[in-house]
Amino acid sequence: MLREKLIPAERLERVIATIAEELDADLEGRDAVFICVLKGAVHFFSSLTLKLHHPIVTDFIQLHSYGATTESSGTVTLVKDITVDIAGKDVYVVEDIVDTGLTLLDILALLRARHPRTVQVVALLSKPARRRVEVPVDFLGVEIEDRFVVGFGLDFAERFRNLPEIWEFAPDEEAR
Ligand code: 5GP
Repeated sequence: MLREKLIPAERLERVIATIAEELDADLEGRDAVFICVLKGAVHFFSSLTLKLHHPIVTDFIQLHSYGATTESSGTVTLVKDITVDIAGKDVYVVEDIVDTGLTLLDILALLRARHPRTVQVVALLSKPARRRVEVPVDFLGVEIEDRFVVGFGLDFAERFRNLPEIWEFAPDEEAR
């Protein structure tokens, strides 16, 4: 069930506007490709990229997700690859949330093998207490505690992605 609203829509909007400002300063002189990590980052990606003033290229990548549990499987497989050539480009990986860091580690290895000029990470949320591997998060929205969250793109068993705010979700309790 949806237990508690953690981040209201208005705060998400302000947080994303701040990241967009930071990115615009960083984008000066770069040849940027923004890569959305499907499906969870889709609303963040859309809202963020619409706020940027610099011209960018966008693409999408999808990896195996949790399925109907709230625990990382620890194994990540590629479902959908990007289609643009990122060799020599400045890549920005846009993630919904960095939890253990395992997904991001795999994405970074996959992308770096294609010889981009730079790779940076943009994440809406981070749960540092859960980190199992060290990964860079260059642009971050909000650090949260070790709670399972849904909404604004994040799901539980493919549900709740369309909630306009971030909620704490408790899967063990009776459904709402
Ligand atoms: P990691 O590989 O860092 O453990 O997990 C990354 C992915 O797991 C995220 O992109 C997201 O899809 C999923 N994930 C991690 N924590 C949460 C959470 O609290 N809620 C939801 N809905 N997904 C999460």
